[in-house]
Amino acid sequence: MSRDCGAKHRTEDGRRVGSLGAVVAPDGGAGGNMIRVKTWLDSWPVYRQLTGSDPFGRGKAARSKATEATVSRTATADRVLKSVCPFCAVGCAQNVYVKDEKIVQIEGDPDSPINRGRLCPKGSASKQLVTSPTRVTTVKYRRPYGTEWEDLDLDTAMEMIADRVLEARRKGWQEEDGGKRVNRTMGIASLGGATLDNEENYLMKKLYSALGAIQIENQARI
Ligand code: SF4
Repeated sequence: MSRDCGAKHRTEDGRRVGSLGAVVAPDGGAGGNMIRVKTWLDSWPVYRQLTGSDPFGRGKAARSKATEATVSRTATADRVLKSVCPFCAVGCAQNVYVKDEKIVQIEGDPDSPINRGRLCPKGSASKQLVTSPTRVTTVKYRRPYGTEWEDLDLDTAMEMIADRVLEARRKGWQEEDGGKRVNRTMGIASLGGATLDNEENYLMKKLYSALGAIQIENQARI
């Protein structure tokens, strides 16, 4: 089968003949038919496979029009921001693609020596985590004996946390233990979880040690 179904040859009287043998009328009537035949054939994957540059039908020949028109979300983003996967202590780096101030895709950052562009299934689902309509975006507080959660603004919540840390430190303070000077607080303990990476754990250890706490742990599978 010829690859080109367009009118290339001519009859003795000068009328054009398409490669499928149809005579093309000067007024374009047959030409219109030829174009329709060509369009129909081109839409047929087997025809494209047999006549094009993809004889095994594993590339261009097998692509539908919808696939041809599909454009990656990463290609149409306005900007790309760097981030870190929030799920586990591996700390894989991410590229966050933003369009019209909305996150449209999150992928592994190829520049990162940790994950070199890859993300595990959890990290690959980060976009759903960030953009989920059920995501809680305010501080929730349930006061003692309260039965309902209350929304707090962040400044108020931070003040309350600071007050509680200072009070717990003071109440649990030990200057001596068994006659030995210890200068520590037993009122504060820290148990980190899997979302903390090395740098965060380093800072937390510094903070709690500076406060005088000695019960500082991390468990990467929590
Ligand atoms: S959850 Fe997966 S993608 Fe995220 S930091 Fe851990 S290993 Fe990397």
